[in-house]
Order: sequence, then structure tokens, then C-alpha cells
Amino acid sequence: MTTAKPARAKSGILPRDIKLNSFQDLGVRPRTLENLARQRLVTPTPVQQEAVPLLISGQDCVIQSPTGSGKTLAFLIPLSEMLDGHQQSPPRALIITPTRELATQIGGVLNRLDPRLRVSLVFGGVGYQGQINQLRTADVIIGCPGRLVDMAQRGAARLGAVQYLVLDEADEMLDAGFAKDVENLTERTTKRITPLPRQTVLASATMPDWVAQMAKKHLNNPGRVTVAPPEEADLEQGLISMPKAQKVAYLSQLLQQSASTIVFHRTKHGARKLAHDLTVLGHATAELQGNLSQAARDRAISAFRKREAKVLVATNVAARGIDIKDVTLVVNFELPDTALWLTHRVGRTARNGAKGRALTFLSEDDGEKWRKLRRDGAPELQFVDAGRLLSTGSMHFVAGAPISSAAARSGGRDQGPGRGPSRRPGQRPGGGWRGSRQGQPSGGRYSSSRPGI
Ligand code: ADP
Ligand code: MG
Repeated sequence: MTTAKPARAKSGILPRDIKLNSFQDLGVRPRTLENLARQRLVTPTPVQQEAVPLLISGQDCVIQSPTGSGKTLAFLIPLSEMLDGHQQSPPRALIITPTRELATQIGGVLNRLDPRLRVSLVFGGVGYQGQINQLRTADVIIGCPGRLVDMAQRGAARLGAVQYLVLDEADEMLDAGFAKDVENLTERTTKRITPLPRQTVLASATMPDWVAQMAKKHLNNPGRVTVAPPEEADLEQGLISMPKAQKVAYLSQLLQQSASTIVFHRTKHGARKLAHDLTVLGHATAELQGNLSQAARDRAISAFRKREAKVLVATNVAARGIDIKDVTLVVNFELPDTALWLTHRVGRTARNGAKGRALTFLSEDDGEKWRKLRRDGAPELQFVDAGRLLSTGSMHFVAGAPISSAAARSGGRDQGPGRGPSRRPGQRPGGGWRGSRQGQPSGGRYSSSRPGI
């Protein structure tokens, strides 16, 4: 077993040509190694390389690394090492997530990693009794704040023995929409019913500065793991200038080129309507938004995962944490409210070394919104020649601006997609549209921008 750490790039990330240590080198036990190997997980990703030993040593930790870089196993492997199987005691680990789908997903990853652990999923939209029964024997609780508080108040979720607390998507969990409930839950974990201390992990691709302040309250002398995006981005990203009235028709054509697409809409109602329109146009479409029953939400995710649906139309409920293999395209049919949400939406594609594409539609009225997003930290993106994208399937960039109202009224003829001088095929515009995950949005708090999703 080698203990030497490989050389690090200046930026703190490992260059791709350097062989990473194995999981064994990170101090992971044979049983876990076997379970990882069975899933063909042999080489830790950079964030796992850094975070796993730190967390196994018992230190609190703030993990910031790009979307799709493997944060889930970075915090679950140490959890499994620490708990070492099922014990008849109150739950010893608590993972809090912003959405039910993310809680379920993490539950699945943990179950594959360590089937001995009993996991209780706790979130709204489903009956209480099943969850209460599960909580009686749970080693690990994974859930969303509202129902968790509810269960804690009923005495069904006892949190005083929690030794390992994770806030996944931590910046959202600590933001105003969730902060009160999260505070309530963390407070309960401090009323210890065992002598064992609590270890705390915050994980997210985005950590605005204010999170560091909030984090002080929850963390004890934390280690910080920060992994920058790889220099060679696997993501192609651009803007599509398009009159509002033509967006659905254009999207419909675009979808024919993509094996698996997530389309983000701003509102629940809008997502519903768009999913309906795309279905009528012949696309196998699933819809995911907060107005649906949990059963319908489960069906949507499942159909999209299994590729029965090639398109998932969703609100921001699908923007964070959701890991679906080989999503080839993300479309921002409507702009998100903040640059942070843009990062997370786009992060559903090009995950963990896979290639992917993200296109953001800009229509009349969107110019000011886009400028605001840029000020908020959104990456500089170039306009894609929309016509050529449909005819050739490849992205060529054009000088452009969001379509104006006048152009939209004239059906996009004055300033429609594909106008302006084309760049040479493959030529990259200046300004670094690539690696658009570089540098996270500076974005301030965005609680007010979390409409019901
Ligand atoms: P993040 O939370 O950072 O967005 P995830 O934890 O969801 O990323 O992981 C993204 C994908 O990478 C998942 O499909 C996961 O199975 C895969 N993955 C994670 N760790 C490894 C690894 N060590 N080797 C190969 N694939 C991995
Ligand atoms: Mg994640």
C-alpha cells in the first residue's frame, strides 16, 4: 500500500495523467472496497481523494467541488466506515437534502455501498406510518427538513445519538427557505444521548461567502476540501436567441438530436404545459414539478432514468444533486433566477468525465435578466447559430444579442437565430465560455428566488 500522495496541480486539482490512489490507499476497509469494486468503483475522484481520509479521521468538513464530481460517495464512504453496520440504537447518521428525489437517490447509493445499514427516508408527500416504522430501527436517516422536523416533534425521529450529520447542497440547506428547520434539526442533535461527539459535513458545488459565516455555527474547526473543475471542460455551452413564440417548435427539433434531455422551466404550471406540448409533438416526455403527487414524481424520474422518457421537463426541483447517467443536453427553456441555479441546472449534464451540452434560450424581455445573471456570476456565454445547430448538430458561435421585441414581432426575421457572422467550425470565442463551471457564481443569498418548485 502506498501512502505517498500524488503531485497536485497548482490549482489544487489532480492532473488527469497522474494515477490517483486507490480507495484502499484512502484507508477504506476491505468490506467497503469489495462493495465499491462490485460497482466498478476503483479509483477515487479528486474530491473523494481529499475528503475521505479527512472525514475518516473524524474532522468536520466543508466540501466544495463541481457538480458530478462524486461528493456523495465522498461523504458516504466515511459514514459507512464509522457506523460499521446495523446496531440497535437511535439513528447515528442524518443526511439532510433539499428534495425528496435527492434523498431517495442518496439512499440508493448508500444501500449499494453498505447494504447492512438500515436507512429511513423521511420526506413529505407520502404517508407517516411507514416512515415512523422505519425510523424505529434506522441507522441512517435521509430526508428533507419539513417532514424531519415534524417527525422529530412527534418523537418519531430521535436525533440525540447522531454522530454524523451531512447537509448536502449545503448552501441551499442553510439559506432562508430551509434554515429555520435545519437549525431546529441540528439543535436537536446537540442534545446528546450518547457520549460520542457529532461530526458535520457540508457539501455543495456552490458555496457563496455567507455560507462560511453560517457554517461556523454548525462546524467545529472544519477542514476544507475545494476541488476546481478540470481545465478541459466536458461541457459545451451556449445561448440560443429565439423569439418566445418559436421556442417550443425549435426545442422540439432540437430534442431529435439528443438521447436524453432535461428541460428546465421556471414555474410548475409552465413545466406542466411544456411537457404537454412536447408530448403532443410526439416526444416521450416526463414531467417533474412540485404540484405532482409523490407517486407521479417517482414515476417521472424512473421513466427518465430508464430512458422510457427521452425528455424530462422540470422545475428547479431537478436542478440540484440529481444524478442521471448520460444526460446529453440540458436546456434552460426559461432563465433561472440566479447564477447559482444556472450552475446547478447545467450541472445535470457532463458529469464525472462524461460529455454534455447546455443551451440557454434568450427571448425578447430576457436581455436585462441575462445581464443581471452575469452580474450575479453567470459565465460569459456566446450565442450559438441556432439554424446550423439543427442542420449540422454542432455548435457554431455567432455575434448576437438577445432577440429584441421588434424582431420577435416580425417573427425573428430581423435578428433571428443564426444571423451574424459565423465563427469557423470549432473555433472558440474569446472570454472562456468553456469551463463555464470555473469559478462559481459570486451570488448572494437567493432565498427570495426559491419560488414553489
Ligand atoms: P456530485 O454530488 O459531486 O454532484 P455524485 O456524487 O452524484 O456527484 O456523482 C456523480 C457520478 O459519479 C455518479 O454517477 C457516481 O456514481 C459517479 N462516481 C462517483 N465516484 C466515482 C468513482 N470513484 N469512480 C467512478 N464513478 C464515480
Ligand atoms: Mg451531490
